[in-house]
Parts: sequence; C-alpha cells; structure tokens
Amino acid sequence: MFKKLNIIDDSHKVLREISKEVTFPLDKETKDIIEHIIKHLTYSQIEEYSEKYDIRPGMGLSFVQLGILKRIIVIVDEYEEGKFDNYVVINPVIVSNSKEMIAADAGEGCLSVNREIDGHVPRYARVTVEGYDMDGNKIRVRAREELSIAFQHEIDHLNGILFYDRINKDKPFYTEDEMRLI
Ligand code: ZN
Repeated sequence: MFKKLNIIDDSHKVLREISKEVTFPLDKETKDIIEHIIKHLTYSQIEEYSEKYDIRPGMGLSFVQLGILKRIIVIVDEYEEGKFDNYVVINPVIVSNSKEMIAADAGEGCLSVNREIDGHVPRYARVTVEGYDMDGNKIRVRAREELSIAFQHEIDHLNGILFYDRINKDKPFYTEDEMRLI
C-alpha cells in the first residue's frame, strides 16, 4: 500500500536551514525514506498514480523538504515516455559547470511551493556533480538541460535556497537574446 510523502511547504523555516553532511553507512530508516521518495516521484509523473494518490508531479526532492536536515537529494528523470532514471546523491557538490546559462521557459516548480511563481531562474546549462551513492561509493553525474536544472534546484535546497530567490525581482523574464530558454 503506497502512502504519499508528507512534504513541508515554504511556510516552514527549516527550508531555510543548511542541511548537514551525511556519514556512512546509512541507517535503515534513511534508506527506506530514499526508496519512498523514489516511489513518490515516479508515481507523481505517471498520470494514473498521480491522480489516484493525489500527488503533484515533480522530478526532484531533497531531504529537507521532509524536515530532515541531511544532504541527500533524489531525482527521478523521465528520459523517455514511461522510462525513468533515478539519481540518489548524498553530500552532492557541483564540481564544474558550463559558462552557458539556461532557464526553463515555463519557470520552475517545487513540491514545497504550492502556488505559481512566474519568472525565469538562471541556471548552468551543464553541471558535473560529485557525491556518494547509498552504499557510500563515490559517484559523479554529468547533467545537462532539464536534468542540470533539477540538480541545481535540489542542491540549492540543501543550502536553504528556494528557486524564487534566484528570480530577478526587477526583471523576472529574460529575452531569447539574453538567455537560452528551454
Ligand atoms: Zn524544490
């Protein structure tokens, strides 16, 4: 029986705190939460389940969004219709990034922000992220385009940053000349 996650919204101050480095081995509870997040995010992107369980679609979540200040992010990327890649990165760090910037033309959403917020969020077009998998093995992920945005969005959460912090208040939208919009 699937139970949807209890995701906290941005009225909670904990979302502004800095999450703490995780040590290995992971305890069973932490592993179970990771599995639960993967399932929740996968179901959220499959219409049948998102309706059945009333879950808002989303591709990423960080532990702080459950009120747990651990540096763990999970991304479930639908790379092809109905096919998903899971990324679990513990203590993630962006070790390199492109000069080129992009922004999601439709803006970004967040499972902790239950309202529409308009504006382009500038992000690196490509990032390389290093961290650890659930077994404590060092891993490196290269991400581009939408997946790159997802990694930057989730890693921001670990540092208490929400996507709308990065929207220029005076000029929330870029033109095609100023920014590659995807
Ligand atoms: Zn978010």
